[in-house]
Amino acid sequence: MDKKLTRRQIVRAAGAGLVLSVTPVAWAKRGAAPQFIAVRIWPANAYTRVTLEASQRLDYKYFTIDNPRRLVIDIRGVTLNSVLQSLGGKVQKSDPYIGGIRAGQNTPDTVRVVIDLKTAVNPQVFALNPVSNFRHRLVVDLYPQSTSDARDPLMALLEDYSQGKISSSGTGADTPPVSEPPPDSGGRSGGKRQAIVMLDPGHGGEDPGAIGPSGLREKDVVLSIAREMKKRLDAMGYRTYLTRNEDIFIPLGVRVAKARKQKADVFISIHADAFTNPSARGTGVYALSTKGATSSAARFLAQTQNNADLIGGVKTVGIRSVDSAIMDMTQTVTNRDSLALGQRVLTELGKLNKLHKGNVDRANFAVLRAPDIPSILVETAFISNPEEERLLGSSSFRQKCAQAICDGVQKYINNAVLARR
Ligand SMILES: [Zn+2]
Repeated sequence: MDKKLTRRQIVRAAGAGLVLSVTPVAWAKRGAAPQFIAVRIWPANAYTRVTLEASQRLDYKYFTIDNPRRLVIDIRGVTLNSVLQSLGGKVQKSDPYIGGIRAGQNTPDTVRVVIDLKTAVNPQVFALNPVSNFRHRLVVDLYPQSTSDARDPLMALLEDYSQGKISSSGTGADTPPVSEPPPDSGGRSGGKRQAIVMLDPGHGGEDPGAIGPSGLREKDVVLSIAREMKKRLDAMGYRTYLTRNEDIFIPLGVRVAKARKQKADVFISIHADAFTNPSARGTGVYALSTKGATSSAARFLAQTQNNADLIGGVKTVGIRSVDSAIMDMTQTVTNRDSLALGQRVLTELGKLNKLHKGNVDRANFAVLRAPDIPSILVETAFISNPEEERLLGSSSFRQKCAQAICDGVQKYINNAVLARR
């Protein structure tokens, strides 16, 4: 009756009509529409990673804008939710690359994520299929644009990796085998070069490794042990590097490539074991076998460790072929040295904790595939065992563990030098 009221009703109806014109599209897609279920940011000097996890694969495109520098990601077929809105609050002031992040519903069908950049970056944006506990992930890696920093070859290697120059299954064909004089004893005497030790704390970033019953994370434990080892090895007179010194995901192939770039004399990957049965415990040392595992437990372990690239998340790159005949010859000598190194370390660790077995176990670990560097993987203890989790959580055990591995390394290097005199 009232014209005004009628007009208001008309306006309301029009408003509803506007909504309705959108809603059928949303309804039609509702069954399949992706939902954002988690967002994470992993800030690090080498690169910062942003992960958007969703219930379905995300349909995205991205571009960069200058003045000011931004990376824009448009994701189609999704609706903004509180999970995605929380992304901006997760940016740390100390992030080397990200100044801020905003997310908004740009069109009824498209969510736009704008990343304000502090510096010029080389962005790598890619989707990952579900694996382990993760659903569909959209990963945004922000690499520094200039990787000329010779002090940290990790950045250059990550850049090579992101461009497909290093495969995830071992070493890149671009890096020739290192043929160096044998390591001198740790000392600086006689002007001979110091032995170089590459420490590889496993996992990191998106990949937590194994998680103990009370929540202790393998990636944190092994980084702490590696840092303790570096202190000791530096004091012993070696040159020591870490494949990662941050909570960052580093692909297995890049870890190996970093060791080769530094011309490492030994490579030691540090881990903490886990098993479905919480009573499993003890320390183990592993070396590479390309011709089958020496036990089914070792094979199982290698398979789970090699999954790290899937869990941590790498852009799929082509596998490069290498001259397998030359590789095999080099590998035979290296395997012998790896076993000698492993046995030394195992003997020292046996003074600290119960061992699985008295000898070095072997399987096809991707991270041990440097054809020219004696390489071992140390499973310090079982993080899935409540008692050993408590040990791994204590700084005194970590220090003892670091000392034991360092003692083994020193004995191996000293012996290797004696054998060549
Ligand atoms: Zn591990």
